[in-house]
Formats: sequence, structure tokens, C-alpha cells
Amino acid sequence: MPEDWQRALAIVAHPDDLEYGAAAAVARWTSSGREVSYLLVTRGEAGIDTMEPAEAARVREAEQRASAAVVGVGSVEFLDHRDGVIEGGVALRRDLAAAIRRHRPELVVTLNHHDTWGGTAWNTPDHRTVGRAVLDAAGDAGNRWIFTDLAGEGLRPWDGVRWVAVAGSPQPTHAVEVGEEDVERAVASLAEHRAYITALSDREPAAYARDVVTGGLDAAAPHTGGRPAVAFQLYPRG
Ligand SMILES: [Zn+2]
Repeated sequence: MPEDWQRALAIVAHPDDLEYGAAAAVARWTSSGREVSYLLVTRGEAGIDTMEPAEAARVREAEQRASAAVVGVGSVEFLDHRDGVIEGGVALRRDLAAAIRRHRPELVVTLNHHDTWGGTAWNTPDHRTVGRAVLDAAGDAGNRWIFTDLAGEGLRPWDGVRWVAVAGSPQPTHAVEVGEEDVERAVASLAEHRAYITALSDREPAAYARDVVTGGLDAAAPHTGGRPAVAFQLYPRG
């Protein structure tokens, strides 16, 4: 995984999307002095069966901010797309290009945009839509003749995205090896999604989070000499 960069922007559909795997890499990056910001396309308001969307949006936004803070991410922004029915297309690409121009990242991180998680485990429409739009927007952000109105908002083109790294891809190409401290922070980061985890599991959130995070990191270990790692599919640009 490339190391010669300073700023990353992680763009995903829902609160918790980064915590189910990528957060250990984020912990590693921020502890080595890199800046990482999060952009959530929705507030995950349709994600808790037993909670009305307006309340879930409020709870999940707070959980996401707490979760980001645990891995050293202070900048967490939310767009106002609707959870479960995110529309792909020009409007979404414009929102993402605007965010990329504002943050000027060298690395953009997103979640699996493929149809499945591997095999026949079907991915969700929001993940597929957002992941593909992120890959598109990395280019849109650098073209002055696309979304020309953004320049009027002070958002100059940014053609500096050098890689888009897709977490959770069934076709990983790279990995970030993580240490014990990174793993602990990633576990704590997922456990901050307390209301969400409590609604979907009978287990105590910290125990649930530990199993999920360590299970994911161990899955990459055969490719890294047995060391825990976060795997990504890397799309270099330029
Ligand atoms: Zn999600």
C-alpha cells in the first residue's frame, strides 16, 4: 500500500461502513501523522429496524462522530442523501467531487462497489452506488469543465487524487498491516455504534466488535505472513 501521501478522504454510504473493516488502517494512518477525514453520504436512518428514521439519523450521526474520534478522525461530514435509496448519477457525483475539491486528498477510500462481497453474498444498492460514484468523482474533481459551478463556490479543481482504495472488495490487491494498538482502536471505534449493534445482536457491543474486527483482519493475514492487515483493492490514477 502506498505510504507517500498526507491527506485521505474516506467516503461511504452509511455510519458503520468504515468501522466494519477499514478503521484499523485509519488508526494506523492517523497515528503516523496523516490526516484522514470522513464523508458519509447518509446518516444511516433506515438502518435500525426498531427506531424511527428521524431518531435513528440523530443517534447514528452521534455514534459515527464518536467512532471517528477513536481512530483520530476529527472531520466528519454528512450529505443529505436518503438511506437505502441513494440515487447514482450526476447529482451524487457533483456532491462527491465538491467534497474532494474541498479536502484535496491524495488518497480516497471507499467501500466495496462490486455486486457481491465475493461468492453469492449480494452487496447493497447504496454501497454499489456510492463506491462507483466515488471512483467517478475522483476524476470529476480534477476537470475544470465538469461541475463548473463549483468554482464559483471557491472549489477549484483538484486533480491530486492518486489512488482510490476500496475496502471490503472481493478482489483485494493491497494491504495495510496493522499493530495491536490499531486493532484495539478499531474495536473501540466499531463498539461506538452501540445503538446499531444492540439492535442487531444480543451480544455486548465491545465483544461483538472484537469478533467482527479481528475476524476481518485475520482474513487478510494469509497474504501478509500471518500479520493482521486491512485489505484494499487499489485503483491508481494518472
Ligand atoms: Zn453500509
